Amino acid sequence: MSKLALSRNGKKAPLDCGNMFATGSKMFKWPIVSQAMRDGVIKVLDEGTMSGTAITNKFERAFADWNGVKYALGHNTGTASLQCAMYGIGLGAGDELICPSITYWASCLQVFSLGAGVVFADVDPWTLCIDPDDIERCITPRTKAIMVVHYLGHPADMDRIVPIAKKHNLKIIEDVSHAHGSLYKGRMTGTFGDAAGYSLMSAKTFAIGEAGILLTNEREVYERAILFAHHSRQSEISIPELKSEAGLPIGGYKYRMHQMSSVVGLEMIKDFPGQMAEVDAAMNYFWDQLEGTPGVRAHRPPKGSGSTMGAWYCPHGFFVSEELNGLSITRFCEALQAEGISIATPGCTTPLHHHRVFSKIDVYGSGHPSNFSGVSSDLPVTDGVQERIFYIPWFKKFIPSEIDRYVDVFKLVIENHRELLDNKAIQQKVLDRWALSPKKDKHSKKMELVK
Ligand SMILES: *Cc1c(COP(=O)(O)O)cnc(C)c1O
Repeated sequence: MSKLALSRNGKKAPLDCGNMFATGSKMFKWPIVSQAMRDGVIKVLDEGTMSGTAITNKFERAFADWNGVKYALGHNTGTASLQCAMYGIGLGAGDELICPSITYWASCLQVFSLGAGVVFADVDPWTLCIDPDDIERCITPRTKAIMVVHYLGHPADMDRIVPIAKKHNLKIIEDVSHAHGSLYKGRMTGTFGDAAGYSLMSAKTFAIGEAGILLTNEREVYERAILFAHHSRQSEISIPELKSEAGLPIGGYKYRMHQMSSVVGLEMIKDFPGQMAEVDAAMNYFWDQLEGTPGVRAHRPPKGSGSTMGAWYCPHGFFVSEELNGLSITRFCEALQAEGISIATPGCTTPLHHHRVFSKIDVYGSGHPSNFSGVSSDLPVTDGVQERIFYIPWFKKFIPSEIDRYVDVFKLVIENHRELLDNKAIQQKVLDRWALSPKKDKHSKKMELVK
């Protein structure tokens, strides 16, 4: 008698798993909207201050103080904040940026707006962040900076990355779009490099609309970012060489943050640390219950390291097929789905180096693709990740009895995994998928299961 719904060709009623855009029960709803946020937005509307900077300035100060950084510059998107960080540290024509390939495109695609190129480095198999051992392979005379992405909230190995950058005189930009509040050995991510960019859009953990923010301790980076794309703030520019160029945003962009977002941010920053702590407790509880269960591993830093996952953006777990007699990840996820965990889908975003814009397309019309130096994009760990990780429920509330229901499903499937071992001729056909989304839907086809 088979114990698993899938081996009976059945399907159990789905457990709620939420999705990224504010739906689901209290367990999954995000962001948590307070009355103060609602009141703040209405006030901005009523007072006609949507396009000002006074509220944004307050939010910038609060966000910078929370992170312990001198300067913050609000943007209308995270993409814009990262582009300004690139210009801010001096990335320009003919330069190269080293970046991991498993990330959202806005960690690097903006290089083309600056006449620069990108070289992809491999990731570490357990942090899923840039692998320090692969960075030096990617350094060429053109290299200007390393983009460090704290992927899915997991801090990158800064103790090893910072000395490599120093040794080769490279800048570091941190993309903290997944890791608001994540600590690396007790220190905030986003504070290790020369500049950091954060997405604050509504699917992220610090979710205040379409918005982004740049943090830096360097006055020059801050002022260059203003010079590039912040028309109304040109008067803040004080460094003589920059001042003589100021007046117009010389990048030709306008990236001011919308004040309906900054007013929400001012409220969220009061609530976020507490909410983040609750998510952290819930997610750690989930993984603690599964500790020692074969076939699955948490994506989280070791306990006692002082490193944390922040609010666990889009959490994924590792699947270790060898411990389950070669079970395929698609079959495993299909079984979890049949037991009601609809969100369990294999893989993450398609590695960027597989897109033609990074390998074939002649962006500058120079007659060759725009990765100038020809460093190879042979990234074995990156290319293997799709078979090693899968999407798990993202609990927002620490309610152990509720979380136990999901844990029990995992244990049931793992204990009875032998029922699935024929692997049922399921082939996986990975489709291009350029953004993280917890389940396949018509907007982001993550994976097709072909029988
Ligand atoms: C979301 C995201 C961005 C871009 O932010 P937007 O606010 O959507 O422009 C950049 N990098 C990463 C890693 C992201 O996930």
